[in-house]
Amino acid sequence: MTGATLTVDLDALADNYRLLRAEAGVEIAPAVKADGYGLGAGAVAGRLWAEGVRSFFVARLAEGEALRVALGDRVASIQVLDGMTPGAGPRLEAARLTPVLSSLDQAEAWIAFAGERLPAVLHIDTGMNRLGVSFDEAERLAGEGRLRLDLVMSHLACADQPGHALNGQQLERFIAARALFPDVRASFANSAGVFLGSDYAFDVARPGISLYGGGPLATPDARLRAVATVEAPILQVRRVQPGESVGYGAVFVAETPLDVAILAAGYADGYPRNASPAAFAAFDGVPRRLLGRVSMDLIAVDVTETDARPGDKVELLGPNALVDDVAAAAGTTAYEILTRLPLRAQRTYRGAV
Ligand SMILES: *Cc1c(COP(=O)(O)O)cnc(C)c1O
Repeated sequence: MTGATLTVDLDALADNYRLLRAEAGVEIAPAVKADGYGLGAGAVAGRLWAEGVRSFFVARLAEGEALRVALGDRVASIQVLDGMTPGAGPRLEAARLTPVLSSLDQAEAWIAFAGERLPAVLHIDTGMNRLGVSFDEAERLAGEGRLRLDLVMSHLACADQPGHALNGQQLERFIAARALFPDVRASFANSAGVFLGSDYAFDVARPGISLYGGGPLATPDARLRAVATVEAPILQVRRVQPGESVGYGAVFVAETPLDVAILAAGYADGYPRNASPAAFAAFDGVPRRLLGRVSMDLIAVDVTETDARPGDKVELLGPNALVDDVAAAAGTTAYEILTRLPLRAQRTYRGAV
């Protein structure tokens, strides 16, 4: 091993899936966009398929095509959130992908291409103002009956803030909108939505981040297991004397003698540059502070009073350096941390695929 490794624990993924399934009490159609939140959509979806999942959400058409290839002859529906983008019809059909139609224009284009020959999902906006048709547009489409819908869905803007007034407003609007399609199954909740209560569950939940170990409230959730572990080998351990600095900009100055491990990992491996100084890594399972700036290829960690030696591994992310904590230290989210990991870290899998 010469650099940072990303180990994806598929057994932990399966445990998180079972927790979410039990919590939601309905079918789970996982979000595996952005290559399975950076963990490998093929492996993630393959393991979830073995656990019983038969429906997945991706963002891009090309992600759907790649997932179809990865799933091979394993039967599953793949929904593409970008929907019926210009000219996408033949590719959607060839890969048996279901577009999530999110505007009237998309719906018209899909009807022109497929009519009721192929299934689609209708995305109804309930207050996020990102994607989705309005209530009035949904009403018009429902009246026309020219679509063959597998699902109607909407997306929550503030589910990770359970007290936010928009949650209840969106729920009310979705209840009204889905009533336009009484025979079609409905999907509303992402990870955080699953934890808002059974009102939010409907027929199909679409969690992403919590399957991968990120807490639904953007803080660590002890019920979830860490799925991604990033470890980096120590290149050297050096003694730093009081008054000496470490790294670019000399922003860290030692006050006492320190043993400093220099790791073969940096922001080019997807570890956030601004996680230092607030984040912790772990050596032998014990939290260790980062010293000075994260560089492109190197990170300095305080290993004073340990027997750390070159070649030993330090955990930058994982069960002892939780993704939500690293994200908070870097002023970002678990989503961004995970999706950036494939930059350079070598990815391997643990547990049955
Ligand atoms: C990404 C996404 C999800 C999954 O959200 P998480 O917060 O990761 O659980 C669900 N639905 C839509 C429309 C999404 O874009």
